[in-house]
Amino acid sequence: MSTVTVNCPYCQESMTVNQGDDYAPRFHECCKCGQKFIVERGANRVKVMKEKEAPCMSNPDCREIETSATCEE
Ligand SMILES: [Zn+2]
Repeated sequence: MSTVTVNCPYCQESMTVNQGDDYAPRFHECCKCGQKFIVERGANRVKVMKEKEAPCMSNPDCREIETSATCEE
């Protein structure tokens, strides 16, 4: 595990979250406003997305079901 510092996409609260050593996106919950967001670590930068704004490939839930369902645009 490694940690990254991000800003909540909803309330801009700064916090440190754990990311896996792979580059898979992960869900996190804001410690301040409690809303779920997705953090995806890239080669050079960290992407932070609201749950509803994340493209399918960056949504852990979507990735889990992609073999059995079609994602909405
Ligand atoms: Zn927040």
